[in-house]
Amino acid sequence: MGRDQYSRDYVTAVHEAGHAIIRRHFGLCGTDASIEPTADKLGWCEVAPTWCGPLPGPGRRTTWIYRYVVALAAGDEAEKAVFGGSSGGDGIDRENIFEAMKHARIKGCSHVGDDVWWEWENKARREAARLCRRLLPVILALADELVRSRRVSLAA
Ligand SMILES: [Zn+2]
Repeated sequence: MGRDQYSRDYVTAVHEAGHAIIRRHFGLCGTDASIEPTADKLGWCEVAPTWCGPLPGPGRRTTWIYRYVVALAAGDEAEKAVFGGSSGGDGIDRENIFEAMKHARIKGCSHVGDDVWWEWENKARREAARLCRRLLPVILALADELVRSRRVSLAA
C-alpha cells in the first residue's frame, strides 16, 4: 500500500514517532510528540541536542551531535521504513541538521557540505534507517497512540 492511501495524520505520526523513539534510545532530552499542526508544521517532536543523563565530556562532543543528527534524521527514515518513501516533510529537520553540523567539528571536514561532511551526514542517516527498522514495532505503537491522542507526553 502506498503512503497516498494513508491519512496525513498517520504519516505525520510515524514521522514524529521516529524522532521520539530514536531520541529516547539515545537518552537525548525532549518533551512531547504531537500531530497537532502549527503555523509551519504538521506535527512536532522536540529533540534537544543535550543529554538528559550526565553531561558527556568535551571529547564526546561529536558523539552527542552525531546522536542528535541521527534523531533528527529519524523522522524521515521512519517514513521510509513504514511507507517505502518519504513525504518530504523534513525541511526543518534538514535545517537543524545543517546547523548542528556547523558545530560538530568533524575531523577532516573543512566546511559544511564538503565530502567529509557528506560522508558523516550519510553515515548518520544510515544509522537512523537501521535504528528505525530495529525499533519499528515501538515506533508503530507510538504512531498509533499519536493518532488516537494527538499528543503524547514523552518527557525523559
Ligand atoms: Zn521531523
